[in-house]
Amino acid sequence: MQILVINCGSSSLKFAVIDPVARTEAVNGLAQRLGSPEASITWKDASGKKQETAIAGGDHAKAMRAVYGGLKERGLAAGLAGIGHRVVHGGQLFSASMLIDEQVEKGIESCFALGPLHNPPNLLGIRICKELFPGMRQVAVFDTAFHQSMPRQAYLYPVPYAWYEQHAVRKYGFHGTSHRFVSARTIEMLGLKTEDSAVIVAHLGNGCSATAVKNGKSVDTTMGLTPLEGLVMGTRSGDIDPALIAFMCERLGKDAAKVTDLLNKQSGLIGLSGVSNDMRALLAEVDKGNDRAKLAVEVFCYRLAKSLAALAVPLGRIDALAFTGGIGENSVPVRAKVIEHLKILGFALDPARNAVSGRESKGRITTDGSTCALVVPTNEELVIALDTAGLVTG
Ligand code: ADP
Repeated sequence: MQILVINCGSSSLKFAVIDPVARTEAVNGLAQRLGSPEASITWKDASGKKQETAIAGGDHAKAMRAVYGGLKERGLAAGLAGIGHRVVHGGQLFSASMLIDEQVEKGIESCFALGPLHNPPNLLGIRICKELFPGMRQVAVFDTAFHQSMPRQAYLYPVPYAWYEQHAVRKYGFHGTSHRFVSARTIEMLGLKTEDSAVIVAHLGNGCSATAVKNGKSVDTTMGLTPLEGLVMGTRSGDIDPALIAFMCERLGKDAAKVTDLLNKQSGLIGLSGVSNDMRALLAEVDKGNDRAKLAVEVFCYRLAKSLAALAVPLGRIDALAFTGGIGENSVPVRAKVIEHLKILGFALDPARNAVSGRESKGRITTDGSTCALVVPTNEELVIALDTAGLVTG
């Protein structure tokens, strides 16, 4: 069975054809800089062969048509069993992946105010696919859905209750597909019982979030109404004093939207270091003696550790802490620093295991006998393909 997985963003379109049963990928690709003269599509076949074609000035529709054409050329279009779309915001409407019909499309549209940058292109991708693949069943997989199990004491902000009732202001949480996949994989790897398990997942990529997963369900998470809340990220500040926004509006003579934009795009690792939003580049700078890069990494790890410790509260105990995402899976010094900060919770690093990302110890990077921390690679596209396969085959 082959599933087309689509992640249609504001100026890019990621795609992959995945067999969710065999867990293999026939092809994947990325159309980027959409709407600009430099728009292009890169294809990567299963053999690793890459091919780039220009689609100058191409918008989402043109890119999707080019993807359709490329799939036909490769003999992949006819055999598709369904299409799975990543949709960022499902608000309070969606707590699971959904087979797309008029009602679901309307629901995604009703969440535009909550996900203004993501939901409109996500829905556009769905509508273009409907035209290109008439009759093909499509599924929406929401970033927020996994977190709909949070209890209200976790998702409500201590602000006027009317904000929640009238404007749906609450914590939603994101990266749900990753947190769901990695927590389930952790439970499987450690031989735990889902119904009696306590796992923290630290998803550390360009965006970062951590989730407490109790008995297989999300009970608290660090991202909030938007992905700006919580951990320090590549370009996002994470938690700050909310009064800072008004303060900096006045100081800079800018409006709240502009200052919020700076918190989203010029803060976090890039803001502190002034060098890069990319952890690998920063670690290389640290090795060269760059103090601001060192500061950025220190703040990242310290704040991350504090947030992870806080997630022990809803769990009551910790069976495992799983590191995932580009930084979580690859950055040996970041994991080492975080585990060092978390000694209070019984973690003790095994440097040899950590150095090989725990590959020889079923992912485990802490010593036997101490609290378990491990590395568990994420695979969001596979989750989308699995959910889609499940729903299209009934
Ligand atoms: P996205 O959120 O865009 O999917 P990724 O999960 O690919 O991002 O993570 C990107 C981050 O992972 C970057 O900060 C990158 O520097 C970091 N990363 C990737 N490989 C390494 C590595 N070997 N060492 C340190 N950081 C790494």
